[in-house]
Amino acid sequence: MKKAVFAAALLLCGCAAKTPEKHTRELFAMDTYMSLTAYDGESGSESAEAALSEAVDFINALERELSVTLSESDISVLNSASGERITVGSDALSIISTSLEISSQTDGALDITVYPLVREWGFTTGEYRIPEDEVLQDLLQNVGYGRISVEGQTVALAEGTEIDLGALAKGYAGSRAVEILRVHGVTSAILDLGGNVCAVGKKPDGTAWRVAVADPDNSSEYLGILDVEDKFVVTSGKYERYFTGDDGKRYHHIIDPKTGKPSENGLNAVTVIGTDGTKCDALSTALLVMGEERAVQYWREYGDFDMLLVTDDRRLLVTDGISDGFRLTSDCQVSVIE
Ligand code: AMP
Ligand code: MG
Repeated sequence: MKKAVFAAALLLCGCAAKTPEKHTRELFAMDTYMSLTAYDGESGSESAEAALSEAVDFINALERELSVTLSESDISVLNSASGERITVGSDALSIISTSLEISSQTDGALDITVYPLVREWGFTTGEYRIPEDEVLQDLLQNVGYGRISVEGQTVALAEGTEIDLGALAKGYAGSRAVEILRVHGVTSAILDLGGNVCAVGKKPDGTAWRVAVADPDNSSEYLGILDVEDKFVVTSGKYERYFTGDDGKRYHHIIDPKTGKPSENGLNAVTVIGTDGTKCDALSTALLVMGEERAVQYWREYGDFDMLLVTDDRRLLVTDGISDGFRLTSDCQVSVIE
């Protein structure tokens, strides 16, 4: 009798030791709500807790380095340097360098010098307006990623040019947060940095993480679920930030650097799935500007990622690498890109 009780107790202890403890943090940073969840790794208890604290500190410090609204940030100093060469931190430098790489691959669909236009439309202040065409043409004179020059640790912007890293900073924050978790021995975590999801390993029960793809036409619904493991899932959509003008039309926050106006090409939202968080974020913004045809062309040429496109007429296109891991939960018509 005694023996049986002992055996059962051992079994219970065994189970308890195998269920890693869950730790979560919520924060508001980089203009969005973030939620970080991590499970203790094998290196013992407290590992996830320490990792999350370090990740949160990193994200807050990164915001101070990159913010265009804090006058002492590296980016604000650069934006007000009147063409002078400025030494920037390694994070800003890395993000600017990745942005230039993606700008050149996408023929300038991603262009961080579009910032004065984003501001003119009111997306940085909340004071929305439809700018006059002359104002847009005037501001476009100083837009162009060729106006950014990187040399060693320094960056110079041509006179009149200003940048904002909002299109890829959260992706960078996510990839660095994942690195921090791994250093602490965390092997299972899910981070949601406002539309930038980072899936580390699998769920503690050994199954893949499930990431819902938002319905751009209905904020309370999902189009489907993606099963992912060790991937970044980054979405850009017209629905994420927009205003309705006096003319009754909707204007969203992703600007086509060729026109200075919100992109209008039939694409409603883009989700990019890959292993490089910064590039996934840069690409989700760029592909939305490029539209369906050019996005598919780009994927066929570079192809080191997967994507899910949602068109204005509610067609859903998924690349073949993820078609097996995607479960449709809506009435959209799905086709596979090969
Ligand atoms: P995301 O949500 O990652 O697609 O980033 C969108 C944000 O990037 C916008 O709110 C703007 O601050 C900025 N942005 C808008 N259009 C562009 C563009 N074509 N290239 C780079 N940044 C942009
Ligand atoms: Mg982006």
